[in-house]
Amino acid sequence: MHQRRSKASGKFFKNFPRLFLLVLVLIICFLAGYLSRKRLPAYGSQPPAASDPVEEPGEGGDHPGDPDPGDEPDPGDEPDPGDEPDPGDEPNPGGTPDPGAGAGSGKKPDPPPSSNLLTVADGNYLLALVTKNTTLGRYAPTDLVPIPREMWYQEYPFQLRKEAYIHLRAMWEDARAEGLNLAVCSAYRSYDTQRHLFNSYAAKYGEKEANRSSARPGQSEHQLGTTVDFAVRGVPEAYLDEYFGETPEGIWLAENAYKYGFAMSYPQGTEEITGYIYEPWHFRYIGVKAAEEWKESGLILCQFLEQCPQYWLED
Ligand SMILES: [Zn+2]
Repeated sequence: MHQRRSKASGKFFKNFPRLFLLVLVLIICFLAGYLSRKRLPAYGSQPPAASDPVEEPGEGGDHPGDPDPGDEPDPGDEPDPGDEPDPGDEPNPGGTPDPGAGAGSGKKPDPPPSSNLLTVADGNYLLALVTKNTTLGRYAPTDLVPIPREMWYQEYPFQLRKEAYIHLRAMWEDARAEGLNLAVCSAYRSYDTQRHLFNSYAAKYGEKEANRSSARPGQSEHQLGTTVDFAVRGVPEAYLDEYFGETPEGIWLAENAYKYGFAMSYPQGTEEITGYIYEPWHFRYIGVKAAEEWKESGLILCQFLEQCPQYWLED
C-alpha cells in the first residue's frame, strides 16, 4: 500500500510540471472564452429595435431620434419641448433641399402672418379645423393620459386625450389580434414642442420645404392631443416613410381606422389641398360617428371638417 503510493507519488511529482501546465492552459482558455462572450454585441449593426432608445440619426436622415424619457408621465405632465423627437421625426419632404432656399442658413423662420389665421375657439372640439389657414394658438388639452409603454415604437412618454386613447387602445388590440405590429411613434405635441421641431426642420431644409411635412407651431393636429403617428415594430424602413402605406399595418389602418374614430388626414395626391405631403402613418381621432360619415363622404378630412360647424375666436 505504502510502497504503491511512493511509486505513484514519484510518478505524480515527475509529471507535476506537465500537469500544472495543462491546468494552467485550461484556466486561460476558460477565461478567454468567458471574456470574449461578454464583449461582442449580439449581432451585426442592426437598426435600433423599436424598444431601444433611438440614437439620434445623422443629420439629414429620415429616421427619428429621440431622447430617453424615463418613466411614464402623469397626465398633463408635459415633457420638455427640447425632449421631443428629433426633427427627423418628420420625413424629409423629398430630395435634397435647394441650397438657395435658405437650407443651412440657420436663419430662424419668420412667424406666420397670424393676423390672417382663424383662431380655433376651442381645441377640445373634436372636429376643429386645423389647417395652414387656422391656428390653435397655445391650446393644450387638460385630459391627457399616458400611452402604455407596450404601444410605443421608441422610448418616449407619449400622451393622448383620454377619449382618443380609449379608441386607440381598442384599435391597437384588434390589430394585434390580426398579427399586426402597430406602434405609436408620435402623439400629443405641445405648441413649444412643435415650434422646436419646425425651427429645427426649417434650419435643416429651409422653411418652404419644412412646411410641406412639418406644421408650424399652433397648426399641428398633434397639438389637439387626438392625433397619432404609427410605425411598425421591427420594420424601421416603414418609419415615417410612404412605404408605411404598403405594409400590412398601413393597409389595415387605411381600411379600418375609421371604425375606431380615426381618419387619415393627408392621403396620397392631396398636397395641393392640404399643403402636406402624403402621410400614411398620420391619423386623427374625430369620433366614431364623424369618422364613419367622413369615410362615407369620400372627402379629404380638411374638406369634411370645413362642412362641419366651426367656431372661431373673435379678433
Ligand atoms: Zn403626424
